[in-house]
Amino acid sequence: MVMAKNQPEPKFSRRVRELASRRAGGICSNPRCEQPAHGPGEDPETAINIGVAAHITARSVDGPRHDPALTPTQRASIDNAIWLCQSCAKLIDDDADRYTTFVIRDWKLQRENKASVAMRGLPPYREIRPSEQLSALTIGEQLAIRALEDEFGCHVETNVKVAAGGNGWIRLPAAVVHGEDLVWIELHEYRGGGFPHDPIKGWVQNAIQMKLNRFRKFVLYVFVVSSSDPPQLDEEVERHLYEFAKTAPCEVHIRVERLHKLRAAYEQ
Ligand SMILES: [Zn+2]
Repeated sequence: MVMAKNQPEPKFSRRVRELASRRAGGICSNPRCEQPAHGPGEDPETAINIGVAAHITARSVDGPRHDPALTPTQRASIDNAIWLCQSCAKLIDDDADRYTTFVIRDWKLQRENKASVAMRGLPPYREIRPSEQLSALTIGEQLAIRALEDEFGCHVETNVKVAAGGNGWIRLPAAVVHGEDLVWIELHEYRGGGFPHDPIKGWVQNAIQMKLNRFRKFVLYVFVVSSSDPPQLDEEVERHLYEFAKTAPCEVHIRVERLHKLRAAYEQ
């Protein structure tokens, strides 16, 4: 590496070099190499090291990936160091167009993630929780899913796409499987007024014509979460749905639940 004149910037300190090695678990951070850099020497009193703390952005102005925005202190910090075997350290500097700052920083992150899992068995990542997502489902619909999970004793997947009619597919709000049958779950929030009985009949008639590729037939669950005022309207809705179920072209099950009851059961 060519040093710019008049600018003898500090090299990595011993502390930074050790830190880079330890954070990488002593393994070269190039994911296609992953060569262990430390090992025993022939003499039982010695250990060998073929690893180096390499600069992500060069110290010298004309060096690989030099970033003029950094201060000399930043260039000498752990943030600018990556642990590599000597051949990978040479590789990234000889082909800086391919091994950009972005690529090398990604190697570093990947290596530290793997080292963390290998050492502690504790991944630094976890799955995103439903409460942390901008859910496509309303609170009422989420509670309906919880109630159905209790009833079915299994996870209820939402926004499900299944193959139907050769190359076609249909999207269901939620679904589970019962034996060879696909349980199609329709969720409705009802706040009083007219209930969309006719649209429901319409799409059931259409969907039932589709031949499912992986399942024998549909079983339909219509789950209504109601906050109608007066509550007696629920009985009307329920009565209509049961009427529809009698003549429907598939097996239909009706659940009509009050929103406040579901809230009491599933919200703290
Ligand atoms: Zn390597």
